[in-house]
Amino acid sequence: MEGIDIAHIRSQFPILNRTVWNKPLVYLDSAATSFTPQCVVDEITRVYTTCKANVHRGVHSLSQEATDLQEATRECVREFINASSTQEIIFTRGTTEAINLVSSSYGRLLENGDEIIVTTMEHHANIVPWQLLGSRKRIILRVVPIKKDGTLDLEAYQSLFNERTKLVAVCHVSNVLGTVNPIKDIIKEAHQYNVPVLVDGAQAISHIKVDVQDLDADFYAFSAHKMYGPTGVGVLYGKKHLLKMMPPYQGGGEMIGTVDFKKTTYAELPFKFEAGTPDFVGIAAFKKAIEFMQSIGIENIAAYEHELLAYATAEMEKIPNMRIFGTAPQKSGVVSFLIGNEHHYDLGMLLDKLGVEVRTGHHCAQPLMHALSIEGTVRASFAAYNTREEIDVFIAALKRVSAMLG
Ligand code: PLP
Repeated sequence: MEGIDIAHIRSQFPILNRTVWNKPLVYLDSAATSFTPQCVVDEITRVYTTCKANVHRGVHSLSQEATDLQEATRECVREFINASSTQEIIFTRGTTEAINLVSSSYGRLLENGDEIIVTTMEHHANIVPWQLLGSRKRIILRVVPIKKDGTLDLEAYQSLFNERTKLVAVCHVSNVLGTVNPIKDIIKEAHQYNVPVLVDGAQAISHIKVDVQDLDADFYAFSAHKMYGPTGVGVLYGKKHLLKMMPPYQGGGEMIGTVDFKKTTYAELPFKFEAGTPDFVGIAAFKKAIEFMQSIGIENIAAYEHELLAYATAEMEKIPNMRIFGTAPQKSGVVSFLIGNEHHYDLGMLLDKLGVEVRTGHHCAQPLMHALSIEGTVRASFAAYNTREEIDVFIAALKRVSAMLG
């Protein structure tokens, strides 16, 4: 495909050369975590071996260098998602912590009887933090149902708003169905009622061009480890006026103005929400991951993954008793499936023996599983380093497994 030099891309991921059960590795689990190119690993090593000093705390040269690296990543993230200011970029441990931050902090501004709209297709990370809030106050979750093809029922969504609605929390892309939600329209609808929207962007950010200002998102959460970056780093984007009115999430070093036993004041944004020592090595390396994606072009990645998805889906549909969950017209590179009534674990374990790494289970989306009346699925997901040849291996393995299970 034009714009993608797949051999060059693959050469940057040494892990792709390993084998599983003496078979060449076919990794189709990038929705859980993506592999990391050598440039990111090298940057981690470089920071550890040349300038590992704590950030924002010292006047000495190493601390300044480490701080500059962290803040350069903040600027890189700002530009990547087109936020208007680095004050709107808060580093977290990942999507989960970003959502918990909003639920703990914005949640303190809510009152008994207030309502939050979520959807049936949310990851537990975008359900349980709101339920925890409900254990401290009476917060009601309103749930947008899905249609047969795995798209959201937008008419039902519109009908859920009332004067008690205080937030919409919705994923940009479903980690199970692959559905790309019409997030701009969803946000526009909520804003008609002056309701802010938190977007769980974990499955979108490395597959779709995200422009938070164009979307008009109020909060946008994502994880570096799903975007070719290191583990333990994530981002919460939040509109400045909302972040300003929200109380701190955690207390400790870095997030204060002055501390006194009588009165403590808090730091300016974004530091108000960044208590304690962050994973500044990971944050520094995260910049390399973003630059890696930019070097290919996120639109090129999206188009390439879409080709892989279309090819895989067409080939899978030829397999007898194949049940694909999620057939929305707008899909990202995720296919969830079962074959007949075979258990997802059996399918996943046999595929592993053939070198094909797929995810099995409820994918942290049990309410969605209940809505689909299943316990779990097998999920194959694609990234920029996957190839058509790997899909061929996957399809051949599926046929073999299907025949073995009869
Ligand atoms: N939201 C979605 C849609 C996800 O797919 C995931 C992880 O798979 C998460 C949230 C949680 O991400 P993390 O575990 O990186 O915090």
